[in-house]
Amino acid sequence: MTRKKRIDTSLVHLCDPMEQRGFVNPPVYLGSTVIYRDVDELETMNQDPLRRKDPRYGRFGTPSSHTFESALAQLEGGVGTVTTNCGLSAITTSLLAFVKAGDHILVADSVYLPTKIFCLEVLADLGVYVEFYPPEIGGHIDRLIRQNTRLIFLESPGSGIYEIQDVPAICEVAKRFGVITILDNTWGTPLFFKAISHGVNVSVHAATKYIVGHADSMLGAIVCKEEQDFASVRKAAIRLGQNGSPNDIYLATRGLRTLSVRLQHHQKQATKLAQWLEQQSSVERVYYPALPEHPGYEIFIRDFKGACGLLTVVFRPCDKALMNSMINSLELFGLGHSWGGFESLVVPFDPLYKRQYLNWPHKGQALRIHVGLEDINDLIADLEHGFKYIAKP
Ligand SMILES: *Cc1c(COP(=O)(O)O)cnc(C)c1O
Repeated sequence: MTRKKRIDTSLVHLCDPMEQRGFVNPPVYLGSTVIYRDVDELETMNQDPLRRKDPRYGRFGTPSSHTFESALAQLEGGVGTVTTNCGLSAITTSLLAFVKAGDHILVADSVYLPTKIFCLEVLADLGVYVEFYPPEIGGHIDRLIRQNTRLIFLESPGSGIYEIQDVPAICEVAKRFGVITILDNTWGTPLFFKAISHGVNVSVHAATKYIVGHADSMLGAIVCKEEQDFASVRKAAIRLGQNGSPNDIYLATRGLRTLSVRLQHHQKQATKLAQWLEQQSSVERVYYPALPEHPGYEIFIRDFKGACGLLTVVFRPCDKALMNSMINSLELFGLGHSWGGFESLVVPFDPLYKRQYLNWPHKGQALRIHVGLEDINDLIADLEHGFKYIAKP
């Protein structure tokens, strides 16, 4: 078929059954050893440092990785994808692909905490000058660029309270100064935020979250806009021994088929829940980018095609034991890390932890909520029951 397909169609038809004996899903190739045809082939392969075509060792990928990597690159509008064993290693691999001792890098203050810790503890020890910037800085980031600035790391919305960054403005500055931009696009997903078309050079995903979508495996993916950056990231992954496992890649490929319909439903549910939460007397504030009162909403509406199911609620100050009883009483919201699966989750956290530029006006507990695919009325009833512990007169 040569007609141009729309996204939902190309996700369903991301591989050709006739290329895999009629089976509609791609086979999973498991393996370390891959046999060469002859010495000629071995010698040719040794001359290709990126070992992209027909990988001849498990660590360089399998035909299963190829299906997923090309589908994701197509979705993001990039030239290629590198997979790693989890979202965090996709971040560390993409950073290590570009920085060396003596370089200065700018990292949003609102990034995922393990990203921040990697920069503070590992990159700093390797001689990289790490500077954090307020996520709302936009085009004024030009003031922070130095002679030795190598890259800008972004995450929009930020982890915790979802600060929206002006990605196009920051990327425009970066481009002017010849600085690489890497963006953690996990919240936005390849469907709701088109990172590369907004100017980002490298878009990173914790595929563990919505792409896999069923909380049953961990995978990272790095999509590059340009060949040269793709070669750098691919080389870094090979040097570091980073590679997504075939079984996890299979689950992520399967997840892509239903990503669009799942996200639409997560969005609908989360919007309903956010609006309900705002009406509760024990609630001081709800942070969810799709709410018109969310800081940076104008940029969100301008740049994003949708919102996922992750939001944060801040309660009015109350007794900690009562707050814990409320959380412990929930039956449908598991207390646990991660998000993006079919199930609802909560996790209490401290928004100020390791933050440099956050003016936090609240005194009460912050609770991150992942709104899953359960019936929204049941989810609300579960919270309603729990909120009796912390009810304000
Ligand atoms: C979860 C998460 C990651 C890390 O993904 P893992 O697969 O758990 O390593 C990275 N960035 C963001 C924004 C995340 O939420």
